Amino acid sequence: MTKIKKGIPLIDQHNKNGFWGKFGGNFIPETLKKPVEDLTILFEKLRKDKKFIQDRDYYFKNWVGAPTPFIKLENLTRYLGGAQIWTKVVSEANGGAHKIYNATVHSLIAKKAGKKYIVGDTGAGYAGKMLSMAAKKFGLKCKIFMGVKDIKRQKPNCDAMRKNGAEIVPVYTGSQTLVDAVSECMRYWVSNCDSTHMCVGSTVGPNIFVKICGWSTSQISKELSVQIKKEFGKIPKKLKLINCVGGGSSSFGFWNEFIHYDKRQFEFIGVEAGGPKNSKKHAAPLTYGSKIGILHGAAQYVNQDSEGQIEETESISAGLDYPGVSPLHCFLKDTKRARYTAATDEEALRAYQLVTKYENLNPSLEPSHAFAEAIKIAPKLSKDTIIIVNSCGDAQKDRDILKKRLGK
Ligand SMILES: *Cc1c(COP(=O)(O)O)cnc(C)c1O
Repeated sequence: MTKIKKGIPLIDQHNKNGFWGKFGGNFIPETLKKPVEDLTILFEKLRKDKKFIQDRDYYFKNWVGAPTPFIKLENLTRYLGGAQIWTKVVSEANGGAHKIYNATVHSLIAKKAGKKYIVGDTGAGYAGKMLSMAAKKFGLKCKIFMGVKDIKRQKPNCDAMRKNGAEIVPVYTGSQTLVDAVSECMRYWVSNCDSTHMCVGSTVGPNIFVKICGWSTSQISKELSVQIKKEFGKIPKKLKLINCVGGGSSSFGFWNEFIHYDKRQFEFIGVEAGGPKNSKKHAAPLTYGSKIGILHGAAQYVNQDSEGQIEETESISAGLDYPGVSPLHCFLKDTKRARYTAATDEEALRAYQLVTKYENLNPSLEPSHAFAEAIKIAPKLSKDTIIIVNSCGDAQKDRDILKKRLGK
């Protein structure tokens, strides 16, 4: 069995073909070999470049608004009567979710590569909204690929993209959700890679896109590490870091800094989208033991039928509605460093109701999946156990769905 190595960032623990264990790689058409190689060389150079790091940190601080708050949910803790519930309010970042970190870094890279255009995919609309913000900020022309089903259910984020001057390209193929948007975006990039930089919105895609995204969102756990030490004086003995998992960028970023701790001290729990209670469809390939397949240029656990066709997913949360998952998470699952579970649509909605009843926090439907797991396990745990949930998105974008399902 492959093991996690100490002292090397996880994003760099792949072999020369780009695989983390059995996962990842570069399943790309011939025409993309050169652009992907160029991007790889550029990124490896930039991440060692002091000036580039300075710029990144400058924009993280003065534009993204890092660090985001780390707070205790006292009322919810009291109500549940077990472990302490804390949250990192990543939704306080500029734009309302963690996607801003990846979008900022990709835009800075695009500038360095001398590209005038940037394209990206989006599901919940946050990746698209943030990319449109970053494109506007750094003077790039932006196109966002988005499934028609998602355009309908995430209107506030679509309005934001258009306001920022981005063009939304509606995707009518397949299930008309994120999976198709990523495919269409990659297809577009194949024919336009000379002038255009592509941002993949999560820790998915060919090896280099997984790395850039993971490197960017790791800012979250860097901040959290400082905040935990400041709050508790040292790292407490029992911590559980709970995060929803779609493609896996917020969860990876939330955990990365702590990967080398013993899992009895720092447990990682990833919560996938279980879909509607009475439906067979879900977006939880890690939880339900999906087989390895190739999706969007990388090997990963992915929902597929007996013939290897990618299966349609279903989830109340557009951001988690994806049949595959980051190779980094497949690797974390196989090495048993993280544990994965799922919450149903109904459990996420109930968690949303409970959190908003007790706290001034408005987590979107994606982190509501993570809260569902926290609510499930907290009562059985000791008071010195620290649960930290990544509240990675704001429910403003979900107002239509919430109104329909909860009547408010
Ligand atoms: C995109 C998104 C997700 C899912 O993507 P990850 O890459 O798994 O983080 C989760 N929450 C929010 C708010 C999102 O916008």
